[in-house]
Amino acid sequence: MSPEFITLSPLNQMKETINNTPVHIRHILRTVVQDSGAHCVDLFYKALFHHERAAIFLEKETVEVKMRPQLLAWIQSLFSTEADQAEALSELQCRVGAVHARLEIPTDIVVYGMYIIKQALITSIKSTTSNKDDIIAAIVYLHSMMDFAFKFMIKAYDINFRKKVESDEAFRLVSLGHNIAYEKETQISTFSSWSTQAFFCLCKGHAADLPTIAESEFGLWLTHKGMSLFKGTHESIEIQSKTLDLDNKITAIRKSGIIPAEFPTELHKAITNLTFLLSRVFRHLEEVENGRDPLTKVFNRRFLEVVIQNEITFALTHDKPFSLVILDIDYFKKINDRHGHLVGDEVLCFVAEIIASVVRANDFIFRYGGEEFLIVLTETTAEEALACAERIRRTLAEQSLTLSSNDQVSVTISGGVAAFEGETNSRLLIHQADEALYKAKNNGRNRIVSTHAVL
Ligand code: GH3
Ligand code: MG
Ligand code: MG
Repeated sequence: MSPEFITLSPLNQMKETINNTPVHIRHILRTVVQDSGAHCVDLFYKALFHHERAAIFLEKETVEVKMRPQLLAWIQSLFSTEADQAEALSELQCRVGAVHARLEIPTDIVVYGMYIIKQALITSIKSTTSNKDDIIAAIVYLHSMMDFAFKFMIKAYDINFRKKVESDEAFRLVSLGHNIAYEKETQISTFSSWSTQAFFCLCKGHAADLPTIAESEFGLWLTHKGMSLFKGTHESIEIQSKTLDLDNKITAIRKSGIIPAEFPTELHKAITNLTFLLSRVFRHLEEVENGRDPLTKVFNRRFLEVVIQNEITFALTHDKPFSLVILDIDYFKKINDRHGHLVGDEVLCFVAEIIASVVRANDFIFRYGGEEFLIVLTETTAEEALACAERIRRTLAEQSLTLSSNDQVSVTISGGVAAFEGETNSRLLIHQADEALYKAKNNGRNRIVSTHAVL
């Protein structure tokens, strides 16, 4: 590698690698691919069909007809390219990366596939020549070219995957009609129309006319829009399974023409349950849209970056301090394990309430992680922030939560404090507070550590 190598663009680095590799070494690679390329492709697919997560992406016929010839062509082009064709080669890698992103193929599977190809080609190199220096040079060239290919692929993958995530998010918003409150009202009403019609058919004894949810206006909305809107919530799976279950029963009744005696009660229960789930999932979405954590009602992370950036700007323009505190409940997992998740949730709300009771109205509380809270203390110095965090810690340590079962639960927290000192990168500030928290945990928990050596 020349000293200038690291200053070159990746494309020029690849060109230099090709140019600096002796012709006879590149010839070895070309011969190896010609002779054993097909065998290498065989091994590649054999390995991936055995790989549980990779096999999901492979369909036998498409592999035979399309993917095998494409992979062979890809290997051939990688090792027969001259320096002046490097640009076309890099573009091909970008296209491959974009396809991987579209199919959402995890990168570890791509790396594994490339590993298999490397191993197969290395074996062939060794059987093509007995000259050790040539073997080493050929293996180095093989690795370099595979690394370049992966570098271009992964860059395109990254860009395309981001675009995909953005468009998925945009689709969620389009599904939403940009107004959850309106959507909630409309869909709860279409669901209610379906249930009225179902009960009407029951009253009349018209088993054959019982409407399924899937074919109702609500069901169609749920299939095409609702499920993408509800994706990621606990309720979505329950709603899906409950509607499917109900539809199966309705279909059976329509077929047989007989309404079982217990069905009206079952239907009533299912409708009440679905109405409850729908209200809850919509409320959850409303809160997330408003930047709130549905459980504790403090802010979620959505606007964290914006809030810190605003404070940085304010601090710089007005020469004012501000600080961050990260608090983490100690041994929270044990609370869940001992009392169950619902009690865990109650404890989270309790901690959030205590934090809110100590900080001022001009501070911001975020639920930063599962059992972590981040507080942006505006116009607050490092010393004041430490004192505030200490107050929260003490208040919590001195109080216990009375559960509905009358049991008492007490928790402690550890905390890290970092004050703004002119660094405009919000992540660095968070990182500093996080490191202080880490120290507080290591020093025995139930304590606050500041990055600033006060007290
Ligand atoms: P440490 O003192 O080191 O912080 O120990 P810990 O047990 O608090 O930390 P750990 O990270 O091991 O466990 C955190 C637990 O928080 C694990 C997870 O199940 C729980 N958790 C995260 N979010 C929620 C939630 O919304 N509700 C409930 N009940 N538990 C949650
Ligand atoms: Mg934690
Ligand atoms: Mg914890």
